[in-house]
Amino acid sequence: MTIFEKIIARQIPAEVLCENEHAIVIRDISPQAPVHLLAIPKKPIVRVAEASGDDALILGECLLLAAKAAKDCDLEQGGYRLVINNGPDAGETVPHLHVHVLGGRGMNWPPG
Ligand code: 5GP
Repeated sequence: MTIFEKIIARQIPAEVLCENEHAIVIRDISPQAPVHLLAIPKKPIVRVAEASGDDALILGECLLLAAKAAKDCDLEQGGYRLVINNGPDAGETVPHLHVHVLGGRGMNWPPG
């Protein structure tokens, strides 16, 4: 069971911003920006590369919930960055797909 499955099951605590049938948005425990959220599908899809066509609805719902949480955190006007780390070179540390929502400061490009 991944750490995110335990959070979804309320076995370990997290600050939950919103959730629906398909996904949950929590605050990252180690924020890299003034606002750093994680939108996580409730289905433990390991990473984007391992998602299938059957997961299309879940992936879409996860992105839409990320956008709702960003709006609720007043990030809509200034904008925000969505990041998915897929695999070791990208810095993936939790093998349960999640979308980082980063905002509240200017972002650099290209990313590190
Ligand atoms: P990744 O490196 O896999 O893209 O992102 C994993 C993210 O999960 C990291 O930003 C890390 O801070 C966050 N994280 C890891 N464990 C926990 C936890 O127990 N609670 C919360 N809220 N975030 C976590």
